[in-house]
Parts: sequence; C-alpha cells; structure tokens
Amino acid sequence: MMEAATDANGAWQECMKVIHERVNNLTYKTWFEPVVPVSLGNDNLVLRVPSQFFHDWLEEHYSSVVTDSIRKVVGDNVRVDYVISEDDVVESEQMFYRPPQPGRIGSQTDSVASQRPVSKPSFESNLNPRYTFENFIKGDSNQFARAAAYAVANNPAGTSFNPLVIYGGVGLGKTHLIQAIGNYARQMGRSERVLYVSSERFTVDFVDAIQKDRASEFSNFYRSMDILIVDDIQFFGGKEKTQDNFFHTFNALHQSGKQIVLSSDRPPKELKGVDDRLVSRFTWGLTVDVQPPDLETRIAILRKKSEDDGIQMPDDVIEYVAANVTSNIRELEGSLISILAKASLNNREVSVDLAKEVVRSLAVSRKTAVTVEDIQKVVADVFDVTEEQLRGKTRKQEIVIARQTAMYLTKDLTQLPLKTIGSHFGGRDHSTVIYACQIISDLLSNDTRFREKYESTKKKIEMIGM
Ligand code: ADP
Ligand code: MG
Repeated sequence: MMEAATDANGAWQECMKVIHERVNNLTYKTWFEPVVPVSLGNDNLVLRVPSQFFHDWLEEHYSSVVTDSIRKVVGDNVRVDYVISEDDVVESEQMFYRPPQPGRIGSQTDSVASQRPVSKPSFESNLNPRYTFENFIKGDSNQFARAAAYAVANNPAGTSFNPLVIYGGVGLGKTHLIQAIGNYARQMGRSERVLYVSSERFTVDFVDAIQKDRASEFSNFYRSMDILIVDDIQFFGGKEKTQDNFFHTFNALHQSGKQIVLSSDRPPKELKGVDDRLVSRFTWGLTVDVQPPDLETRIAILRKKSEDDGIQMPDDVIEYVAANVTSNIRELEGSLISILAKASLNNREVSVDLAKEVVRSLAVSRKTAVTVEDIQKVVADVFDVTEEQLRGKTRKQEIVIARQTAMYLTKDLTQLPLKTIGSHFGGRDHSTVIYACQIISDLLSNDTRFREKYESTKKKIEMIGM
C-alpha cells in the first residue's frame, strides 16, 4: 500500500496514476478522465460517472484495473461504488446520496433518483431517471409528440390529452418520452404516485395476482396512481382477461381525474386483438406519432450523446454516422458506442474509416440477430393468428400456412438447425420443417400475392432491433 490517501480527491488522483500506467492514452482519456471522485469512506470509494453506459463499460472492461488501483492506493478492503450523474440532478441534490448496497451496482441510477427530495411513494415507480425532457432532442420528427408530452407532464389530467397515446416504430423515443412525463411530473411535484409499466409486465402481474387470489389488491394498486404509464400496449393483443382488467382500471383512473399515458407501435385503431371498447377509450384523448429522425436531428442526437459520455467526437465522424445510420435512434446510439469501444480497445483513433467499419459490421450483425420469437411475433401479426397457434396443433388451413411460413423464415433468417427449429414450433421434428420449407418454396415461385406477403413479412422481421 502507498501512503494512505484520506480524501476522495487525493485517493483518486493516486489511483489515476496507477491506472495511467496500465491503459493506453486514448482509453485513459475516454474512460478515466471524465470520472469524478465523490467521497471516500472506510470501506468504499464513490466515483461519479457521466452515464449508465459509461458505468457499464467501465465495469465490463476496466473493473479489475480500477479495483487494483484502489487496493494499491487506499487499501485491500475498499470497494468502488458508482453514482451516475445526470444533467438534471443539481449539485445540492448530491447530498441525498447514500452509498448503494453492495452487489446492486446495476440499479444505482434508481438509488440516486429515489433519494431526490421529491415525494417518496412506497413503491417503485420504475422510471429510469435518464429519460428526461432535457435529454430528449427535438426535431421535426418528434416535435409534436414532445410538446404534447410536456403539456401533460406540466398538468397531469388537466389537459384534454387523456389518455395521451404516443405511437411509432422501434427505437424512436416512445419509451423515453412517456417516462420523461413521469420523471418531470414527480420532480416538479405535479404528481406523487407515478407508475411506469410495460403492457407485458402488467399482464404478468395480473396473471400472477389472479393465481395468488390477490386480484383486488392488484386493481387497487393500479387505481391508486396519479399517472399510469403503460408502454407497448400492442402486446395486450389477444389477452382478453388482461384487457378486461385494464379496461376497468382505465375507467376508474379516468373518472377520478388521473392521467393515463400509453405507447404503441401503431395507431390504436390498427391494434390487433384488442377489444373495440378499449380501442375507443384509447382515442378519447390525443394520439400523436413519432417519426424517424431527419439528418439534422440525427446529428444533434449524436453530438449530445457523445458529450453526455464525456467524449469528443470529430465532426466528420458524427456526420458520417448520421448520414449512414438512418433507421432509428437506438441504432445511432449503438453505432456511437461501438466506435468508441473499437477505438479504445484497439488503441485506434476515432476516424471516419473506423466509423465505416463499425457501421458495416452493425449492418451484418443485424441480419443474424433475429430470434425465433421475433419471427413468430411478426408472422402472427401479419397472418392474423396468435403466436400460440403457430406453436400449437391446429390444422386449420390459414394457421398451417402461417406456421409453415414462420418455419421457412426461421430457416432463412437464422442459423438454427432444422431440429431446433422444429422444437420452437410445438416440438415438431425436422422432417416437418423440411416439408414446410418445400411447401413455402413452391408457393413463393407460383403465387405472386403470397410472395409479396412473404417479402413484406421478412422485411418487418429484419427491421426488428434496428
Ligand atoms: P422506443 O420506445 O420508441 O422503441 P426508446 O425510447 O427506447 O424508443 O429510444 C431508444 C433510445 O434512443 C433510448 O436510449 C432513448 O434515450 C434514445 N432516444 C430516442 N429519441 C431520442 C431523442 N429525441 N433525443 C435523445 N435520445 C433519444
Ligand atoms: Mg419502447
């Protein structure tokens, strides 16, 4: 051990020296210079990092470098804890920080958030503090949705936007926006009880409550919210009992002047397998869409994201990525992260060449990333059957064709062996898969309308995760 450092600053300065000897300069600048020491206790050193992503990256790639340096400088039994800073956390709020539980590294954002001097509900609101209006870049593609969300956040249930439904494709900021409403309303003291759930979570909890004979407890809980935010309501499709419960929850909340916020991958009227009376409720308030971002917005998003992560991105690299990654914002973020990762791990400069490699390899990995579940989901949707039917025993002609199409697509889009494919479709054997592929390949060469349907299904699947 070196001369024991007693304050966080001094300790971290010493650690940085040790770290600098072990990592290359780019890594040091990228991943260590932005780290800020917060406090030094008897058993931990608390460091502040600029974002969740930054934290995860440090943990995954440099955790031993960090812990070794701390051991050397401060002592053997001192661990590192991280807090994640956000634009919207003002300095004075840091004093509400309590060191997180050991072993709960991943949820530290929550622990910082829950210690803000806002109302303290006795349940987990599930809001990610990263999803704020400040962090949300405005552009033509999302301006209207953002304005509506902001109006609701400022005056929950006090506008005619109740429910507010935000719909649009994958990765375009729906989850971000609907959670920003909750974060803002809580922070500004507009609402105390805010709950964010995905429709899947709602469904699972509901089924669980029924099984444990606690349905009324479940209903009371949801009906006690000031703002109820439900993400991805398209997954309510086909789940009648859950819909029935949600219908009553919706009515109860609406009647008692509470705000409901929903997101969906399509306009409410196009939801499949959702009861008409529920769809009609969804259209009572305001329905707005988010569109893919235009070039200017993409550039602005990349600038902001790299700044947030404490990283200087050359303009030409930002422009290259913005011009070539056009589908959605999640993919933009992914490209940025990969570029930094590659640069840092291979000790290369961040350049347009490097960006080209990353963008190209992302386009390739996208193709292999499709899962059988993705395929079943999309096929069920396009062919208007349920996923259970795809895996089930029914011999009804429409269902058989959908099932065979899904098998063929699985063979086409994944690298899975026939036996595995069969097992994903209700435990069928490999000869059934071969037979299905023959039928579909005949159909594809003889039936133009089927081929068109097939092609558009395939495109939809390939869009997943983009
Ligand atoms: P969706 O729910 O529509 O699939 P998300 O809300 O999960 O999309 O957004 C995907 C990612 O892109 C998130 O990390 C989110 O913070 C980010 N993002 C989306 N829109 C914006 C925006 N306008 N400004 C900044 N970040 C955004
Ligand atoms: Mg989402």
